[in-house]
Parts: sequence; structure tokens; C-alpha cells
Amino acid sequence: MICLSYSDYSHSQSNGRYRPISTDCFLLEFISLIFYPTYDLQVMSQYTHNCRLLARRCHQWHHVQRPYLSTCSQTGPKVCIIGSGPAGFYTAQQILKGNPSIHVDILDRLPLPYGLVRFGVAPDHPEVKNVINTFAATAENERCSFVGNVSVGKDVSIHELQQAYNVVVLSYGAEADRELGIPGEGLVGVESARSFVGWYNGLPEHRHLQPNLNTEVAVVIGQGNVALDIARILLTPIRLLQETDITEYALEALTRSKIRRVHVVGRRGPLQAAFTIKELREMVTMPDCRTVFTAEDFSGVEEALAGIPRPRKRLTELMLKSVTGRGQTEQEVQRLADASREFYVKFLRSPIQVLPSADGKRLRALELAVNVLEGSGKSVRARSTDDREVIDCGLVSTVAAG
Ligand SMILES: Cc1cc2nc3c(=O)[nH]c(=O)nc-3n(C[C@H](O)[C@H](O)[C@H](O)COP(=O)(O)OP(=O)(O)OC[C@H]3O[C@@H](n4cnc5c(N)ncnc54)[C@H](O)[C@@H]3O)c2cc1C
Repeated sequence: MICLSYSDYSHSQSNGRYRPISTDCFLLEFISLIFYPTYDLQVMSQYTHNCRLLARRCHQWHHVQRPYLSTCSQTGPKVCIIGSGPAGFYTAQQILKGNPSIHVDILDRLPLPYGLVRFGVAPDHPEVKNVINTFAATAENERCSFVGNVSVGKDVSIHELQQAYNVVVLSYGAEADRELGIPGEGLVGVESARSFVGWYNGLPEHRHLQPNLNTEVAVVIGQGNVALDIARILLTPIRLLQETDITEYALEALTRSKIRRVHVVGRRGPLQAAFTIKELREMVTMPDCRTVFTAEDFSGVEEALAGIPRPRKRLTELMLKSVTGRGQTEQEVQRLADASREFYVKFLRSPIQVLPSADGKRLRALELAVNVLEGSGKSVRARSTDDREVIDCGLVSTVAAG
């Protein structure tokens, strides 16, 4: 096992995509290929993007003596943080600020830091990834070190870390998918959002996912921003995706994609939708794509507008505008009429079962129960009726992690 080390990293941007330029990058890629034969150069190059923070440190974990696990030789309290996502880095930032003699080691099972900011946040949302600059400033602190490629619980135990550090902080995020618990969930073509997002973001363990893009219809179960991220990546015209930092292999696969319709399915109604206005606006204004709501789902919604908080009110107004077509310019009407792709927002539906293909191996369709809402305010609940609906599809992505 080795911890990749970097020295003085920089990047150039060509055609909107980051390329490493220094000799050190070459060395990194060389090392990567030896120790990670399954990683290709493109993926590793993307890992290294904005990774200057690792520049001054070189920890070869296999050289670290177990009784002296901490990388700090100085006296003073030593803290070990497990997980280098936002939780880990914000914790490190506060700890370092609060005590001038404390030392912090941040451990991660991946070779590079930042957790889901790097491997979750969509590649077409670079502004969200800017928080990496704040984390990099923390990592550049002389009293902070990052050690990658260390899987706590496998390479080193919590008990061993407790012996070596004064404090051990667990900030390892959500690691598993929560199952829907419906028949057919294991069929080929059903992917967790975690793996699908990991695939387009270049996460090594999902690099070989091969989601079924040879189908016209995809369904995303869930109606939060991650669901909209997936829908957006599937529906965005390739020329726009080319301008993002999406991994090359995902871009190639999406270039051949036949997906024309994406449904995002949620069990409750428009007033409970978990996505936010920015993400929805990106969908309703997407070139060559028409957003489709079901008018009946909005019964009573306009009347409820007066009593709801402003952010949700604005979100709901945007949905209502799209449902009714109110205030649309002629140009906008024409754009929607000409669109070759469709984004369906399906409220009040719960997945019941995944239906198999004739050979019983692949997903053929998704069966949904139609729901009604019971209760009011925050305690509103969805109850399934006997009504069913079937969507023929070749890809289902489930947004749930535990
Ligand atoms: C697809 C997606 C898009 C998102 N988009 C946004 C967005 O636009 N804006 C926003 O604010 N939030 C967004 N989020 C949410 C945000 O990414 C998470 O809330 C945040 O990353 C959680 O931080 P964390 O540090 O708890 O966990 P993580 O970011 O998951 O970090 C945990 C780290 O721990 C490491 N780790 C796990 N197990 C071990 C182990 N045994 N040993 C060592 N290391 C380990 C992991 O490798 C990882 O690096 C998004 C999430 C997803 C999934």
C-alpha cells in the first residue's frame, strides 16, 4: 500500500477541461498506474485537479511505524480525522484555529481528498466545488497533514488510532446504499445514485459501471437535488457537457446515449418537493429539453401559496409557471415545442416493483403506486392507493444512501 504524494501541482485549462502540466503530474500518473492499474490517465489527471494542498507532504503509510501512527513529531495534542470530506475539513479548520499547538492528520481511504465535493457534486457545478479552495488552505497549514489510501477498519483499526492520537474524529460520510426493498431491485439496469454519480465523477470503484444508456427512458427515484443532478447529466446536450469537468469515459458514453426522457419520481406532492429552485430552473431552461408536470398534481397548490415560506413559494411559482405556461414568450413556446428531450416530474408516485425483461435478467419497466396525501403542514404523508402506473424504461437510478 502506498500513499500517493505530490509536489508543486499546477494545472492548465484547455478547451474547458483541466490537464495536468508539470513533471510531477507525470510522476503521479506513473505511480498511479503501477499501484492502480485500473485507473486510467484521464481519471487520475482529474483526481489531481486543484490538488496543490498535497504539495509539501509525502507520507508513505507502509513506512509509518504502528506505535507511532501519528505523522506529527512535535509535542502538543494530536488529532486524527477519518474522512476528508467537508465534515472532516471543517472540523480540522476549527480545531487548528482553536489551539495553536494542536496537530491534525486527516486520513482517507481514497488517494485524494474532499469526499463528495470531488466525487459527488456534479461536474457542471464548478462553483459548488470552489469550497475546495477553503479546504486546501486548511491542508496547507503546517500543523495539518493529509494521508490518502488508508482505509480505517481495514488498514488500521480505530483502536490503533486511539493509541496514537489524543482524539480520533469519525467523519466518514455515508458509505452504503439504502435499498428500496421492492421486488426486482437487483435486476440489471437498476443503479444506485451513489454509483451512477461516482461513475460520471470518476470514482475508481464505479469507473466500470456501464449504465444502460441504450434506452430511451430513464427513471430516477427521488426528488431532491441529487435526482436532478442525474436527470440533468442524462439530458444536457453533449456540447454543453463537453465544457465541464466530467470524466472522459462518461462523456463518451453519454455521447452515444439514446436517452430522450427522464422521469423523476417522488412519493409526495409539489409542496413537499426536495429540489431547490436553482436546480429546477436549470431543467426548465435547458436547451432542447421540455419539462413536463402533471396538471392534476397541482390541484389546490395555487391556493396554498399565500401561507408558505418565501423560498418554497418561489419554487412552487416556478413549477406553476411551467404547468400553466403563464407568461411564456412566443420564443419560449417555440423552444419547448421543438425540444427533442423531455424531463418529467412525477409527484405522488411510489415504486412498487421493477418488472423484468423476458429473460428475467434485465429491467423492463417500473411499476408505481399512485398516492394521495394525508395530513397537513410538515406532517403530510403519502398513502398509496390501488391505482397503478407502469413506465417502460431501461435505466432506473435510486437516490438513497444510508
Ligand atoms: C451527487 C451529490 C451531489 C451533491 N451536491 C451537493 C451540492 O451541490 N451542494 C451541497 O452543499 N452538497 C451537495 N451534496 C451533499 C454533500 O456532498 C455532502 O453533504 C457532504 O459531502 C457530506 O460531507 P461528509 O464529510 O460528511 O462526507 P463525504 O463527503 O462523503 O466524505 C467522507 C470521506 O470519508 C472517507 N471514508 C469513508 N470511509 C472511510 C474509511 N473507512 N477510512 C478512511 N476514509 C473513509 C470517504 O472516502 C470520503 O472521502 C451532494 C451529494 C451528492 C451525493
